[in-house]
Amino acid sequence: MTVTTLTACALCGSGDLEQFLDLGLSPIAGDFPVVPESFESMPRYPLRLAHCRACGLAQLLDIIDNKLLYGRAYPYFSGASRPVVDHMAAYAKQVQAAYPIPLREHGIVEIACNDGTFLRHFVDADVRYGLGVEPALGPAEIADRAGVDVLREPFGLESARRIVDLFGKTGVIVGNNVLAHISDLDDFLAGVKTLLHQDGVAIFEVQYLPDLLTGNAFDLVYHEHHYFWSVRSLGEAFARHSMAVVDVQQHGMQGGSIRVFVRHAGPLSHSQNSVIGLLGFERQALTGAAYVSLQPRASRVRARLWAMLEAERAAGRTVAAYGASAKATTLFAHCDIDSERVAYAVDTTPIKWGRYMPGTDIPIVPAGSLPDGLRAPDTYLLTVPNYLGTFVRNEHRFLGAGGRAIVPLPVPAVI
Ligand SMILES: [Zn+2]
Repeated sequence: MTVTTLTACALCGSGDLEQFLDLGLSPIAGDFPVVPESFESMPRYPLRLAHCRACGLAQLLDIIDNKLLYGRAYPYFSGASRPVVDHMAAYAKQVQAAYPIPLREHGIVEIACNDGTFLRHFVDADVRYGLGVEPALGPAEIADRAGVDVLREPFGLESARRIVDLFGKTGVIVGNNVLAHISDLDDFLAGVKTLLHQDGVAIFEVQYLPDLLTGNAFDLVYHEHHYFWSVRSLGEAFARHSMAVVDVQQHGMQGGSIRVFVRHAGPLSHSQNSVIGLLGFERQALTGAAYVSLQPRASRVRARLWAMLEAERAAGRTVAAYGASAKATTLFAHCDIDSERVAYAVDTTPIKWGRYMPGTDIPIVPAGSLPDGLRAPDTYLLTVPNYLGTFVRNEHRFLGAGGRAIVPLPVPAVI
């Protein structure tokens, strides 16, 4: 079966799911075709989001088969994005400073280590062992070349048992933006429970559900993102496996993220004020009204962005997308954007060059060296709005020469 529709919560099994967002039909975000596509020619799948009234987990209602979702070349490489590289370097330093003893005595495992952008900082550090778990072969090969040991399979109870047999239980487990992608949550969480040393800490970064709602960030919704987490739903998830969220930090990556610190339930699992504070905030912020208002706000973004792109076209200006991101797939599909409005997309990832934005006839080209026949842009559409600072730093010449930029979210605006 290609698409399965959920009738019960993927975490707690409750049937009390309330749909709050329907983005219509959208192509698979990572599936960049080699020929131009039209709306009719590319397979599209429903994209709907619901929240569980019992445990608070926000989740996709339509689950695409993993073979279809991940069967093609995997286009995401952490190392291709400068802000991600910088973020991971700073993060690695923090972990080394905070947990020297668990690292030295019991090592570190990164779940979904991608190309090793984070874990390579531990290769020559004082750690008992460092191991990545990554099923995507392209990124795993790059991690391997950087000296990172990689187990090339999805993480779950079985792989956790194998790692424990080989190396013993782990002092620090790290998972960056992996909890959104898990098919079998209980198997994954049982794996964390099994792998984590009694005195160890597991640290997970996830996109933060209240920021999705307040930031109109519907472009974060694509088929690979099964879940959108809050401190409440994370607490429920780990409690199911006798673990507890003891601390939480908020930061600005991925349009608003949180980093939660998890320990085995017991003497060390006392919740800090950060956790209690955000749980209180979520009781105010995650109301039924907050959920249902996202749909009309997404529709207003669509109407306004469409009008702005029409105005650029009427003025004879060439618009290019800045970043062929997964978010851009949802944005373009929801707003019916094709090459009439956006002439091409520039991106730094070589594997995407020469391909097209999913479900469109918009070509993807290298940043900085346009193929013949393409006009230099007058206006950039920023498809990764949270990298606005990076854009302004990198494109100061373009902006200084009168270049324009449209930021689509939270409300479309020209800068
Ligand atoms: Zn639930």
